[in-house]
Amino acid sequence: MNISKDFQETRKMSSTINNCEYITPKILEAISEGVMITDINSKIIDVNPAFEFVTGYKKEEVVGKKPDVLRSGVQEIEFYKNMWSEITHNGEWQGEIWNRRKTGDIYPEWLKIMSIHDETDRIIGYCGVFSDLSDEKEIESELKKRAMTDSLTGVSNRFAYSERMNVLLNSSKNHNYQHAVFFIDLDRFKQVNDTLGHVIGDQLLIEVTKRIQTLLKNKDILARYGGDEFVITFTDIHDSREAVYYGKKLVELLEKPFLIEGQKIYISASIGISIYPHDGLETEILVNKADKAMYYAKDNGKNQFVFYFDELKTDVKRALLLDQELRMAIKDNCFELYYQPKIDIREHRIIGVEALVRWKNERLGNVPPSEFISYAEETGLIIPISECILECACTDAHTLERKGFRNLPIAINISSIHFHQQNFIHSIEKILEKNNLPARKFELELTERTIMENERETILKLITLKQMGFKLSVDDFGTGYSSLSYLVQFPLDYLKIDRSFIQQICSLNDKQAVVDAIIQMAHRLKMKVIAEGVEQREQVKLLGKLDCDMIQGYYYSRPLPLKEFMEFLEFWELELEGK
Ligand code: C2E
Ligand code: MG
Ligand code: MG
Repeated sequence: MNISKDFQETRKMSSTINNCEYITPKILEAISEGVMITDINSKIIDVNPAFEFVTGYKKEEVVGKKPDVLRSGVQEIEFYKNMWSEITHNGEWQGEIWNRRKTGDIYPEWLKIMSIHDETDRIIGYCGVFSDLSDEKEIESELKKRAMTDSLTGVSNRFAYSERMNVLLNSSKNHNYQHAVFFIDLDRFKQVNDTLGHVIGDQLLIEVTKRIQTLLKNKDILARYGGDEFVITFTDIHDSREAVYYGKKLVELLEKPFLIEGQKIYISASIGISIYPHDGLETEILVNKADKAMYYAKDNGKNQFVFYFDELKTDVKRALLLDQELRMAIKDNCFELYYQPKIDIREHRIIGVEALVRWKNERLGNVPPSEFISYAEETGLIIPISECILECACTDAHTLERKGFRNLPIAINISSIHFHQQNFIHSIEKILEKNNLPARKFELELTERTIMENERETILKLITLKQMGFKLSVDDFGTGYSSLSYLVQFPLDYLKIDRSFIQQICSLNDKQAVVDAIIQMAHRLKMKVIAEGVEQREQVKLLGKLDCDMIQGYYYSRPLPLKEFMEFLEFWELELEGK
């Protein structure tokens, strides 16, 4: 592929970057190749209309950014290293590269990059010229598409799914991305097909596809896997709770009746879920595990979703075991609280502590809260568990007080299901009264999502809790979908920035900018900010500079059992006195 001659002319004319302004309107606008000009630091300073057309980005969206906004992840770092080494040595490079459009699609292009020199031959920038190869590959891809799409529903088939997954997983290798693979099998589809005929069966599959599509984001992958089986990958999910959300939505969407040729048809779906990278790094493994979990969902009542769990390999009855053991643990009060300090960044004092539940079970081992809390939420067991946790926190609050650790409010995580119970306030009031403790000894941590549900009722509850003396925090801030303006309406004291932002705060400018903005906004709304999941000294330093108020994370301490936590407090006080 040749780069347009027009452009070679352009390059000659462009003796300095500054006079690009002069050449761009005329030539750059006319040529069909996309052109991108960067300064010496690889910051984009200009692009032409063909660039906008091919990539989908407007000029003002990319100027000032680096070309990696287009990076697809298909090429490894090594590829870029070689490319830059060639540009440095030969002044140019050309080759085929896969980039990503604003829509998320990846596409092939032929790219040539050249360095731009001034009169003294000093490099002052770079120029990239590219042609979209999609068209040329069209015939090829049309053939491929036919072999890759499911002719009934128009979505990917099993082969296309594997290919798209492989690209996705390849590009996820060196990042913290999580993806959820859903294996869906329709319940009662066979009966519909057998009794109402294939034509209606086919219509039903088309309607099912349409409903599923309403949940998909740009990069998500949907495929029809076989007869009445579908596979979906929800890409870049934040945590398993997001997968729970999609699971619930799918169950809801598919249990509603379908109206086909005047008939109301009721079906439902059994869904199995596996999570990348937790359950596996390869497509086949992830699909396999989601499939196993789907069978479990089917065998245990249908019309539900189930996450893959290791014991499915050997013991498909784990959920039953979990249920049994959880009920016993509630009866015998087998939960323990671990404590993690919150440190005031300016005064270097421990000014609070978060209680995190732990459950050690003889038959199941250490069951993490992420597993049993979500199970308890689905089954309603969360209410008695929350009460056990509150009781335990009260007992520990007395112990702390007795040992002389006063003014150390204990933050308790409140489940959304518990919070939205009608008698929530009454139930905690009763426990505090029984233990003879004032509310000001506690903070309540509510996630953004909890607060966003049922706004009016939430405001009233929060005001009452505040009047009782509780301090209130928004937990995992940044992971929900809150508009910032809602914060003004709620009487909140602390905002806890989610670990996912803090993790990359030193390496990604975007994350740093978001954290900076959150802190400023919170301060203007008279809230204090706690950074969660702080693990490194550099993060502490940077957060200090950004005016964050408090730090919580492994950098200072992991969550500890009460006894060890009190030793930690003593040690901390001695250290402070020594300074
Ligand atoms: P959360 O409230 O956001 O708690 C913070 C989680 O991050 C805890 O995980 C904690 O151990 C972990 N963590 C703290 N510092 C660091 C760090 O520097 N690096 C890393 N990688 N992790 C850190 P844990 O204890 O597994 O709890 C997970 C979630 O389970 C909690 O998130 C909370 O939503 C829920 N949870 C925990 N205890 C309770 C409880 O008593 N009641 C309720 N309803 N939910 C709870
Ligand atoms: Mg919390
Ligand atoms: Mg949190």
